[in-house]
Amino acid sequence: MDPLDFQVVQSWFDEFNSGHLILDKDRNIVFCNQYVEQLHHSQPSDMLHKPIANFLSKASIIFLDTYIYPMLLTEPIYSEGQMSWIDGAGVSIPIVVNIKLAENGSSLWSLYVCINRDKLHDELIQTRDKLVHQTKNLYALATTDSLTGLLNRRELLAQAQIITAHAKRNQSTYAVLALDVDHFKQVNDTYGHQIGDDVLVSLADSLTGNLRINDLVARVGGEEFLVVICDINVDDAFEIAEKIRLNIASCLLNDIAVTVSIGVGLSQANYSFTDVWKHADIALYQAKNNGRNQTIIAQ
Ligand code: GH3
Ligand code: MG
Ligand code: MG
Repeated sequence: MDPLDFQVVQSWFDEFNSGHLILDKDRNIVFCNQYVEQLHHSQPSDMLHKPIANFLSKASIIFLDTYIYPMLLTEPIYSEGQMSWIDGAGVSIPIVVNIKLAENGSSLWSLYVCINRDKLHDELIQTRDKLVHQTKNLYALATTDSLTGLLNRRELLAQAQIITAHAKRNQSTYAVLALDVDHFKQVNDTYGHQIGDDVLVSLADSLTGNLRINDLVARVGGEEFLVVICDINVDDAFEIAEKIRLNIASCLLNDIAVTVSIGVGLSQANYSFTDVWKHADIALYQAKNNGRNQTIIAQ
């Protein structure tokens, strides 16, 4: 090429808003345009005849040696390689590189800085993480009671379907314990609503601590709870209800003595879950009428 022509071409390349490099077969720079020089904050002469490895991060060099160049031997074009350029001040700059291997072993590089693309990618990842977090929160909001963390009424009814189906399949029975705090209004009146809330939280902890993993515990009203115990007969259900009741009566919840009344309903083949719950509620009502702090089995 006429030297004058070459200068014209060089000046045109300097107009590109992307980097262009030519490396010889030993991967030394034999040509680069202004975009690359500016990327490196250097004079053209500083870069020419230097190995490309001088301008890339260690990880990028390994990527180039072990992956990109071996790939170029089978397919002479490699697109969208993500690398890190190291500028004259040692600062790492993300770049995207397209490389074409020429027959004589030289390679033609075009590249651009992708800081904005990386930013967008990071924002996408952050947004995705936020969505996952929000979905978890929404799920917790939809299924649990915010004060105690126990199941809410809706989730209890959903999970009760599984227990009912299990009992039917195995011809087993399950028990529903309806539990209500005695004279809870007095607790609020005496100590305030906030302390009342704390008592409810402690009571919820005490309930879950006494049960197996497959049992359900739900807060179904202000100071009303429901416990569902699978694969159990009426005697064992009564025993567990008494254990729960005596446990609460014998200790202080947040320094406050409270008692509970419990009604126990046992499933039968032709009962729906709400039937069993209704029976437990009737027994609870009797326990209240009989003087509270006791367990009654539904007849
Ligand atoms: P009983 O033995 O007949 O059950 O008496 P009780 O006082 O427990 O029953 P009552 O139905 O008269 O009152 C229930 C009280 O529970 C009234 C209400 O202020 C309180 N309560 C309901 N939900 C909450 C809550 O989320 N936090 C607090 N602190 N109190 C609640
Ligand atoms: Mg009550
Ligand atoms: Mg009540």
